[in-house]
Amino acid sequence: MERADVVVIGGGLIGSAIAWRLQQAGRRVILCERGELGAEASSAAVGLLLPEAGREGGPELWGLWEASLARYPGFVDEVREATGVAVEFRQTGNLALAMNAAEGEVLSRRFRAQVAAKIPAELLSGDGARAIEPSLSPEVQAALFFPRHALVDNQRLSKTVPLAAAKAGVEVRVHEPVLGIVVHSGRVEGVETYRGRIAADVVVNAAGSWASLGVPMHHGEPVAGQAGPNDLPLVRPAKGEVIALWTWPRPIERLLTVSGASIVARADGRLIVGGTVIDNSYDKAVTAGGVASLLAAAVQALPRLQNARFVEAWSGLRPRTRDDQPIIGSGEVAGLFWATGHFKTGILATPATADVVTAMIEGKEHLPVGSLSPKRFGL
Ligand SMILES: Cc1cc2nc3c(=O)[nH]c(=O)nc-3n(C[C@H](O)[C@H](O)[C@H](O)COP(=O)(O)OP(=O)(O)OC[C@H]3O[C@@H](n4cnc5c(N)ncnc54)[C@H](O)[C@@H]3O)c2cc1C
Repeated sequence: MERADVVVIGGGLIGSAIAWRLQQAGRRVILCERGELGAEASSAAVGLLLPEAGREGGPELWGLWEASLARYPGFVDEVREATGVAVEFRQTGNLALAMNAAEGEVLSRRFRAQVAAKIPAELLSGDGARAIEPSLSPEVQAALFFPRHALVDNQRLSKTVPLAAAKAGVEVRVHEPVLGIVVHSGRVEGVETYRGRIAADVVVNAAGSWASLGVPMHHGEPVAGQAGPNDLPLVRPAKGEVIALWTWPRPIERLLTVSGASIVARADGRLIVGGTVIDNSYDKAVTAGGVASLLAAAVQALPRLQNARFVEAWSGLRPRTRDDQPIIGSGEVAGLFWATGHFKTGILATPATADVVTAMIEGKEHLPVGSLSPKRFGL
């Protein structure tokens, strides 16, 4: 029988980064991906790194986001040193826009939440926002500026982190779905794939939107996270659609977030506009309505985009839990660790999540994440 110290299930950004860190810590790691590496939510995302107090979750999650953003410059440097691939990361700042008085009220509330949490933010008038981004529409009434918010090319990162993991010695297996997690007497014993069993004392479930439905447990133990007749699954997909436009010169330098869309200007001239939120759908169809709503929101904020070239559209599935907070840590089954459910902020949370999960497995100190434990769902 094959043996590894750790099996990581899922080759998205979260699983790949954890596998990389664990191998660096001296563990022998096998990473199993059922399809292509990084081809699901991690490459579908927009690449915004927006830690904000008051978004889904509580202070521990905001702390994880803040720590993760602080680690990002070092993380992309390390990825480049390991692979030779440069990944775009820019700390541009983010303007959250209000297009009417009601949205202006919401911005004021968000501003107060940042002040209370000591997160740098500045409330600007419409003219103040146009002074730093002249292409903004005259309709913009106010803006909340987050100077530290950043962007990353998540598509490239999703392909490069698994490469870094492989170079560090992780055995990366693609097109090898985990069919079940093997549990005996309350301890994890490994996983089953179509090639047979891989024995391991530690298994990390980083299977994104499939973490509870796609990875049943074997041997008569309860099936973790499967839905009862009236329940939502423990982790479900929240589909998001994204479009790419192209226009040159870049009409904006900063990130823009408006009601219904976020806009990122990548270094190559592409403007990435995302994303709709369609709950509990594994159907990845890109809809006319979704594209229309993204285009309308983007053109309303930046009228110049009327003449931008339409490049492409895609969609992905955000892993969403019942309380919109990720599941990080181990529960009742010894040796089974969860790292999933990052919903809208998994790109942001990747570096810190990988460090926390690695420290947990190594029995070392880590950021406080008790409120994100799988135990809150009885796991
Ligand atoms: C449209 C959209 C926009 C987004 N924008 C942002 C953003 O701007 N900023 C941000 O921080 N986050 C954003 N997100 C969220 C972010 O993409 C996710 O939270 C993050 O990518 C989750 O990473 P993951 O590795 O857990 O999941 P995934 O990338 O989905 O990876 C899970 C992997 O597990 C594999 N898998 C599943 N079942 C099995 C099995 N049985 N065996 C083996 N492998 C399996 C899958 O094939 C998949 O590759 C966005 C998401 C979407 C969809």
